[in-house]
Amino acid sequence: MIRFENVTKIYQKDFPALDDINLEFKEGEFVSIVGQSGAGKSTLLKLIYAEEMPTSGTVFFDEVPLNSISKGKLPRHRREIGTIFQDYKLLHRKTAFENVAYALEVVGASNEEIDENVPQILDIVGLGEKMEKYPHQLSGGEQQRVAFARALIHKPKIIIADEPTGNLDPFSSWDIVQLMLKINELGTTVVLASHDKYVIDKIGKRVVVMDKGKIIGDYEKGKYKLS
Ligand code: ADP
Repeated sequence: MIRFENVTKIYQKDFPALDDINLEFKEGEFVSIVGQSGAGKSTLLKLIYAEEMPTSGTVFFDEVPLNSISKGKLPRHRREIGTIFQDYKLLHRKTAFENVAYALEVVGASNEEIDENVPQILDIVGLGEKMEKYPHQLSGGEQQRVAFARALIHKPKIIIADEPTGNLDPFSSWDIVQLMLKINELGTTVVLASHDKYVIDKIGKRVVVMDKGKIIGDYEKGKYKLS
């Protein structure tokens, strides 16, 4: 589904953020990317979303090289991808319902579609009872659930999550991990970037280890051991 072929990304001239990466994610996989801060995890995710382009090499999405997609077609590519960040990125003056609804409004969805789909997706993330709450009335874990609902509303093929548990306590973090596992079981590919080796270890799925822009380990399900 996603293939990196000899991908190098250089922001500044002195050293690469990604250094000749070759990597493949298959449809339906749950892949955790682990590595210290600065290892290149976010850059890897940004290249999938086509927020950044490689300096050399090619990223393929369903066999389409992303550098061949015209600017006008980028929004369509990005709707295939749900994005989650450490800081939730919710609209503070909108309720949980409205935050998710907004993602549909901007693509011209009808009120009927919104009223049908938004409660359904909020139920999936376990917030059916809290749809009318504003972000400040929700815990960090609940706010991240709203962000997941928003990311899922376009039925993306893949969720990319960049340190989604970075601001959460261990209990809420584990809640969010369970949610990602559930989303994956429902058929969505998940790519999770995290520097939290313990979370990654507990997930027990494929683990790609990065260091200084290189892949230094790629462990099949259950083979990753904490060092
Ligand atoms: P991680 O997500 O693993 O913390 P990043 O992909 O954010 O790693 O960063 C990899 C390297 O690229 C780091 O050295 C970082 O400072 C650098 N970098 C990331 N984004 C930019 C940018 N927009 N401009 C310049 N350097 C950047």
